[in-house]
Amino acid sequence: MTTLLEVLRRQIAADGPMPLDRYMALALGDRRHGYYATRDPLGGAGDFVTAPEISQIFGELIGIWLADTWDRMGRPGPFRLIEFGPGHGTLMHDALRAARVMPGLVESARIHLIETSPVLRRKQADTLAGMPSVAWHDQLADVPDGPTLAVANEFFDALPVRQFQYIDAGWRERMVAVDPETGTLRFAVSERPDPIIEQVPAANAGGTIGAIAEFCPAAQAIAGDLARRLVAAGGAALIVDYGYLRSATGDTLQAVRRHRRADPLAAPGEADLTAHVDFAALARTARAAGAEISGPATQSDWLTRMGVVERAAMLKQSANERQAAEIDSAVDRLTTANQMGQVFKSMSISAPSLAPTAGF
Ligand code: SAH
Repeated sequence: MTTLLEVLRRQIAADGPMPLDRYMALALGDRRHGYYATRDPLGGAGDFVTAPEISQIFGELIGIWLADTWDRMGRPGPFRLIEFGPGHGTLMHDALRAARVMPGLVESARIHLIETSPVLRRKQADTLAGMPSVAWHDQLADVPDGPTLAVANEFFDALPVRQFQYIDAGWRERMVAVDPETGTLRFAVSERPDPIIEQVPAANAGGTIGAIAEFCPAAQAIAGDLARRLVAAGGAALIVDYGYLRSATGDTLQAVRRHRRADPLAAPGEADLTAHVDFAALARTARAAGAEISGPATQSDWLTRMGVVERAAMLKQSANERQAAEIDSAVDRLTTANQMGQVFKSMSISAPSLAPTAGF
């Protein structure tokens, strides 16, 4: 069987070094060999653990955010309830349970899951069995217009980024090349400048030699499309991910395999690849399309304002000692600064009249 490494070597031999976003798209999404196409990456047996898998409270508080926003939208029915990259479907499952506090919401929701992985689509179908009207799509463009509530947890970090490096001659794109001696993949810089650099916020702030600026065209496109929909038909989107508040230089490309950091170029298709989300860049694009931004806030602040402490206390009332300790440790993991509390951020894009949305 051909490995993805062989496919990449052949492509690079034919066309020359490839931009990092092309490499990431193949390593993660290639239909035959891509990381997400071939496995379930989540959980103890996988490569990483996400907030909805740590505690049901995470999805429940998002359900409360959905209920509050839907109410303030005037309770439209039907409406589009979109989740980007739903993983096991756990967040949606917990959110819908909590959202039942708002009569009519679940019945009015047309659920649209944006998911490319066939393995995870099957998991989501199992988790959401019995829910009315669930449809799957490869991309946002395939979801019909209409009043919309959207959620994305750890989705934007999986979108392919381009990187640019500041060298003597100026900013040059970082490319993935093949080392002629060893046949392994390595980074190289493009010889020619690319006019796209004008649109890269981190690069426009200036750079020192060796600095790296990242740019995620797919994230920008989705933020723009979402914002246009929310402004036209009403609604809001909640984005939770690790990332930075202000556009800045820095190499945040990261590979994780079996819960450990790995070399991003060493085993294409075998490791999860992510880059930090530039929340300021998303906000700028969404505002330019007429939407309003709430936050970003740290995950810790947002969860606290949404009532994580109170919800944990309520769950502990009917828990035994071991379960109570588990609830405490899960909340700790989600909120303390040295775990997920600080590096994860929460931000919402909404129709102007709905801002600020709950928790901001
Ligand atoms: N939100 C889930 C899973 C996060 S992992 C959770 O918090 O547990 C990233 C998710 O995004 C996976 O479901 C993955 O298959 C999906 N995904 C990654 N890149 C994608 C893309 N380009 N288009 C659609 N889905 C994608």
